[in-house]
Amino acid sequence: MKTYDYLIVGAGLYGAVFAHEAKKKGKTCLVIDKRSHIAGNIYTEDVDGIQVHKYGAHIFHTSDKKIWDYVNQFAEFNNYINSPVAVYKDELYNLPFNMNTFSKMWGIRTPAEAKAKIQEQIAELNIAEPQNLEEQALSLVGQDVYEKLIKGYTEKQWGRDCKELPSFIIKRLPLRFVYDNNYFNDRYQGIPMGGYTQLVANMLEGVEVQLDTDYFEFIKTHEGIAPKTIFTGMVDEFYDYKLGILEYRSLRFEEEKLDEENYQGNSVVNYTEREVPYTRIIEHKHFEFGKQPTTVITKEYPSEWKQGDEPYYPINNERNNTLFEQYKEMADKEGSVIFGGRLGGYKYYDMDKVIAAALEMTEAVLN
Ligand code: FAD
Ligand code: UDP
Repeated sequence: MKTYDYLIVGAGLYGAVFAHEAKKKGKTCLVIDKRSHIAGNIYTEDVDGIQVHKYGAHIFHTSDKKIWDYVNQFAEFNNYINSPVAVYKDELYNLPFNMNTFSKMWGIRTPAEAKAKIQEQIAELNIAEPQNLEEQALSLVGQDVYEKLIKGYTEKQWGRDCKELPSFIIKRLPLRFVYDNNYFNDRYQGIPMGGYTQLVANMLEGVEVQLDTDYFEFIKTHEGIAPKTIFTGMVDEFYDYKLGILEYRSLRFEEEKLDEENYQGNSVVNYTEREVPYTRIIEHKHFEFGKQPTTVITKEYPSEWKQGDEPYYPINNERNNTLFEQYKEMADKEGSVIFGGRLGGYKYYDMDKVIAAALEMTEAVLN
C-alpha cells in the first residue's frame, strides 16, 4: 500500500486549502471524498455556460486582506455585489435591512424617521438584553420588519420558533440607516470567474484525489495509510454517535432550466412569508452577469435533517453546543486525527473563515 504524510478526508474548501499548503511544504497527501466531485458544498457545475451553485448560492466576502489575497491566487474574482430582494405577499423590499427597506415599509425618507418608527414599535416590549432571535430582531428593526421579513423566513429556514433560536443568526445581517443594498459589510466581495469548482481544482493541482470514497469504508482496508488524518466530515459520525447525534438543518434544491433570458432580474430573491414552502430562488447567471438565452433557477426548500441526509446548517443551540464540546474533548485527545471545517468544527462558517481556520491549522501542524 502506498503511504502518505496526510490522509485528508473531504475535498471541500478546508481539505483543499490544507492539501495545497501541505504539498507546498513537501508533504504527500491523499484527499478522499465520498461524493463524486471535489469542492464540497461550494461545488459549481457548468450548465450552458452558466455556473450553477449546486449546493446553494455562494458569495465570497471577507474583510481579511490576507484571505482575499490568498483566494485570488486560485481564481480571478468578478465585481458582483450581493443585493437580495425579499418578497412578502405582493410587496417587495430590498435587503439587508436599510433605508430602502424602511422607506418602502413606512413611506418615510430620513434615518431619524426610521429610527423613531422602530423605537415606537419596540417601546412597550421593554427588551433590555435580547434572549433569543425574536427579541434580538424586534429590538433591532421593530415589529413590522420582523413580522414581514424575518419571522416567516427564519421559522421555515430553521424549523423552529424564533424564540427558540440563538440571536447570533440574525446578527449576521447588516442593519444600516443609509440607502445601501449591499448584503455584506465586508471590504472584499465577488464570485470566482469560471466557478468555485475550478478554484478548488487549482488548489488541488498536483494532489492525489480519490472520489466516491467514504472514509469509514476506506479505512477498514487502508489502516496505516498515513500517520496523520485531517477529518472534515461529521465529528459525531467519526465517533459512531456514541455521545448522541448533533443536529443539522438540511435543504432540498429544486433546479429548473428555463427557456427565457431573465426570470427574476436578480440572483437572489427571498420569499419571506411562511406559506411559501421555499426560502429563496436563485437565478445563477446573475452572479456572473450572464447574457445567455436560457437561464437556470433553483428553489431552496429547508427540511429537517435525519441521519443519511446532507447536513447543511449546524443547529448551534445549547443542547448541540454542549454535545459538541463533549465530542471536542475527545477529538482534542486524538494524536493522529485533526478535525476541521464546518462539520468537524460544527460551526456556521463562511468560506473566508474556513480558509482562515485551515491556514491556521497548517501553520500549527506543518511548521
Ligand atoms: P464541505 O464543503 O462540507 O466539505 C466537506 C467534504 O467532506 C464534503 O465534500 C463531504 O462529502 C466530505 N465528507 C464528509 N464526510 C466524509 C466521509 N465520511 N468520507 C469522505 N468524505 C466525507 N459561505 C460564504 O462564505 N458565502 C456564502 O454565500 C455561503 N452560502 C452558503 C449557502 C448554503 C446553502 C450553505 C449550506 C453554506 C453556505 N456558505 C457560504 C458556507 C460554505 O458552504 C462553507 O463555509 C464551506 O463550504 C465549508 O467547507 P468545508 O470544507 O468545511 O466543508
Ligand atoms: N433572514 C431573514 N430574512 C431574510 C433573510 C435572512 O429573516 O430575508 C435571517 C434568517 O434567520 C437567516 C439569517 O437571517 O437564517 C441569516 O441569513 P443569511 O442570508 O446569512 O443565511 P444563509 O445565506 O447563510 O442561509
